[in-house]
Amino acid sequence: MAKKVYLCAISNISSGGCSEDCGFCTQSARHKANIQRYVQKDISVIVAEAKNAKNNKAHGFCLVTSGKELDDKKLEFVIEACKAVKESVKDLIVIACNGIATL
Ligand code: SF4
Repeated sequence: MAKKVYLCAISNISSGGCSEDCGFCTQSARHKANIQRYVQKDISVIVAEAKNAKNNKAHGFCLVTSGKELDDKKLEFVIEACKAVKESVKDLIVIACNGIATL
């Protein structure tokens, strides 16, 4: 049986400022990691990254947010980013990794 590898790319659509203290994670505000920090990446930048991922043969594109969980505001932003990517880049599976979510 042939083995297949599923390639995906990620975009950190919000970065830093998490109040949690996971020792491995650069997103924690309690650590001094040298990272870019922003609440929301510009949608046009996210779409450009998705196009670049597709051009580089990615099958999936994951919208990653910092923080332990989703709130309504963050969820709206993830949805906005997802719609923009789906409208602009065909045949790219959009994934989201955003911590804990309620129904
Ligand atoms: S909750 Fe998530 S984003 Fe926050 S420090 Fe832990 S792993 Fe990082």
